[in-house]
Amino acid sequence: MTDKERFEEKTTSYLRELATRSVAVRDMYFYNPEYENIPIDTTRDILLEKANTKVKGLVHKFRSRAFILLSYTCAANCRFCERQDRVGVGLDKQGLLRESDIRDAIAYIEADKGINEVIFSGGDPLTNPKGLEFACNLLESVNHVKIIRIHTKLPMQYPEKVDVGLIERIANLSKTVYVSVHVNHPDELNEVTIPLMKRIRRAGAIMLSQSVFLKGVNDKVDVLHSLFTTLSEIGVRPYYIYHCSKIPTTGRFVMAIEDEIRIMTDLRERLSGIAYPTHAIDLMGAIGKAIIPTNHWDFNPAIVRDYMGRQITLDDF
Ligand code: SF4
Repeated sequence: MTDKERFEEKTTSYLRELATRSVAVRDMYFYNPEYENIPIDTTRDILLEKANTKVKGLVHKFRSRAFILLSYTCAANCRFCERQDRVGVGLDKQGLLRESDIRDAIAYIEADKGINEVIFSGGDPLTNPKGLEFACNLLESVNHVKIIRIHTKLPMQYPEKVDVGLIERIANLSKTVYVSVHVNHPDELNEVTIPLMKRIRRAGAIMLSQSVFLKGVNDKVDVLHSLFTTLSEIGVRPYYIYHCSKIPTTGRFVMAIEDEIRIMTDLRERLSGIAYPTHAIDLMGAIGKAIIPTNHWDFNPAIVRDYMGRQITLDDF
């Protein structure tokens, strides 16, 4: 099988250096032939994003929020990525959404006054900085859009490539800007990335984090306690921690939901509320996230409903 048929290993010089002192970083980024020698299924649509693509690069699944997938590439490929069907291979061979496509996406948003929030995602939107600035400048005249969100992992993958000046220019427009950074382990927060996060915050963005439970990487209370404490201390509000989606190549990272609940229950008792993220599962083949309760409640963890009211059994996750 060629590199192009499977989810190829892609790292940065920064990550390769960090991996020499972090087992967690190695596990998150280095290809493991034992589990991953499987071709990518590009027809998959586990979060119904393809089904809800209204114009090229624009996903509209939730009434008030629209996603613009500005780039189908990332600085590095996470081995647990649920978007392996898109990242680096996916919908556009250039890897970036072109200006004409961005214009069409903004025109769609302009025509729907119910959308007040635009989320730039991908891949990684910060790998298309020109496209991001172009889109935000167009959005400036769309009065019903009040919030811009930029969901990125670039600060943790290639910090020297993050253009803080760009974030500052976007934050100086009239919308409220959130930057949500994907971070999973305290080793990712270090002498390079912590000052960077502070600079992004000072540039005018409200900062959030998103994480994924990963077996063997962050499946310990102490590890996540350290991660969320540090994030809250540097001004990044822990926002979500997700259950890892099980696709053929990611099984080794997937934890039992009961173990995640046990960890989140312990953390609830140890962390300040401002350091405690929401634990959620992205429902595969369905619409929306389900919030997972802690063990402070009695409930049946096997049955959940999506936003359409459809019942889903979690055995498959
Ligand atoms: S940064 Fe996100 S989209 Fe990119 S490879 Fe990692 S998990 Fe996938």
